[in-house]
Amino acid sequence: MTDIKTDILIIGTGVAGLMFALKTAEHGSVALVTKKEAMDSNTNLAQGGIATVFGATDSFDLHISDTLASGDGLCNKDVVKMVVKAGPACINELTRLGVCFNTQQAPGSQGDSTPGFDLGREGGHCQNRIVHAHDMTGREVERVLVELARRHPNIQLFENHVAIDLITQSTRMRRGLVTTTHEDFCCGAYVLDRAHHQVKTFAAHITMLATGGAGKVYLYTSNPDIATGDGMAMAYRAGATIANMEFVQFHPTCLFHPEAKNFLISEAVRGEGGILIDAGGHRFMGDYDPQKDMACRDVVARAIDTELKKSGNDSVFLDITHRPADEIRGRFPNIYEKCLSLGIDMTRTPIPVVPAAHYMCGGVVTDVQGRTDIRHLYAVGETACTGLHGANRLASNSLLEALVYADTAAKDVVELLQSNRFNPLPQPPAWDDVGTSDSDEMIVVSHNWDEIRRLMWNYVGIVRSNKRLERAQRRIDIIQNEIQDYYWHFKVIPDLVELRNIATVAEMIIKCARHRKESRGLHYNLQYPKRDDRRWCKDTIIRRQVVG
Ligand SMILES: Cc1cc2nc3c(=O)[nH]c(=O)nc-3n(C[C@H](O)[C@H](O)[C@H](O)COP(=O)(O)OP(=O)(O)OC[C@H]3O[C@@H](n4cnc5c(N)ncnc54)[C@H](O)[C@@H]3O)c2cc1C
Repeated sequence: MTDIKTDILIIGTGVAGLMFALKTAEHGSVALVTKKEAMDSNTNLAQGGIATVFGATDSFDLHISDTLASGDGLCNKDVVKMVVKAGPACINELTRLGVCFNTQQAPGSQGDSTPGFDLGREGGHCQNRIVHAHDMTGREVERVLVELARRHPNIQLFENHVAIDLITQSTRMRRGLVTTTHEDFCCGAYVLDRAHHQVKTFAAHITMLATGGAGKVYLYTSNPDIATGDGMAMAYRAGATIANMEFVQFHPTCLFHPEAKNFLISEAVRGEGGILIDAGGHRFMGDYDPQKDMACRDVVARAIDTELKKSGNDSVFLDITHRPADEIRGRFPNIYEKCLSLGIDMTRTPIPVVPAAHYMCGGVVTDVQGRTDIRHLYAVGETACTGLHGANRLASNSLLEALVYADTAAKDVVELLQSNRFNPLPQPPAWDDVGTSDSDEMIVVSHNWDEIRRLMWNYVGIVRSNKRLERAQRRIDIIQNEIQDYYWHFKVIPDLVELRNIATVAEMIIKCARHRKESRGLHYNLQYPKRDDRRWCKDTIIRRQVVG
């Protein structure tokens, strides 16, 4: 029995899913599914802003070359050009929708000229080009888009609904373990309604994965609890192509404090002059890179990791106390308040910081319209791998990517819907949990959650080695078997759905990391410390074995 029929099913209410929903809802019915409250997303936590070319001394070419340099040889140049050039239109659109970015009067003007955006600077950018809303850019974007989506008559919002698995035309095994053929197409998803402990079937002409990143695969992360890589894992199980999962970005500066869960100290703090020092006050970044504190994230994260391993200390420190206190409070109100609430006055004291998993450059492979290689299945935002980021994402390029691809995907989907090329919606098989019972061993779930996150941090973290990766592979194989067994015997609950997904994402990261026998961008292996363009200047592609 199909529970919900809709033209478009969108999974995720971050910037990618919301923007795509608003752009397609005029042309068909939209079911917008999200696993917690609508605002629970990585987007909501984004601080720094959105990289876009507005500055008088900036140009598309400069933004393109910064993005390519950061991507370390693996960016798709056409994609980079397309995304960078589409940036200003996306920002103007957000402004029209009601997003308030910081503005600044042009120097020398008498106050009668139109103010331009106040442009921040971040690591890896040669120009000031970060459009921002103080240090809460994501929250401001999310606030406006969620409000518009809630009010839209064609959008039905399903909060506290966790997508479990995609449904493809050839889905035929119980509990959403799908089998896929090349002729296959996606026609919806099985979704767990948390409130009613019930699995619903969503049948749709188009399914969009906008499920964000997977920081929770690691013990330390800047990401919120929702970031368990569900879209990547679901797409992999359905047979879609996945790429570049070894390129996990570790943000160099997360707040180190026992009471601070996942709190990021924005890159913009270094952009405004913040300096990294060790416990003895030594400015160590000069020992690692000519760009010192403005080096790219991977360089800074590795430098901090090295310093911490050398010294045995818990953290290094980010010092911006040399800037006027009023300026710091005005530019970083959110970070200032958070630090102060924990007894750290950043205008007077350096902030203790450590690196943490932050962003997945890899994901579900898409073309420029956001299409995956399963028909009628799209992916957009952090869950997708478009070719923009290559081996290392340039700061503040991800909100930009989500906005641009929400637009190109929406255009493609609207055209498809208008062409009327769809057959009547198929009737997918209902969720089948015959023979399962309520869990009597929740310890299996909580233990494996902890074990995966710890083993990924220790063995597949900032610095990798062949031995560590082999150990990780052996452990994840055993854990995967345990989870699979558990999954088949007990009724699904959200923690189990997420555990199954972080295990799958961990497996994909390990697989890709073992495959790449060089160091490039965010992937660093002690056995292959150099970049090897002759053999490895290419994406790492993986695909689950097709069953049946
Ligand atoms: C602390 C922090 C700061 C950042 N700062 C910046 C910045 O300044 N600039 C920048 O460009 N980028 C920044 N990023 C990265 C950027 O925020 C994300 O890459 C971007 O917001 C991703 O958007 P998204 O829509 O793809 O995913 P998200 O915003 O993460 O949204 C994913 C959505 O999918 C839902 N979901 C996931 N799985 C399921 C499921 N199984 N069923 C139902 N729903 C599901 C989630 O609940 C959520 O609603 C930052 C990230 C973090 C964590």
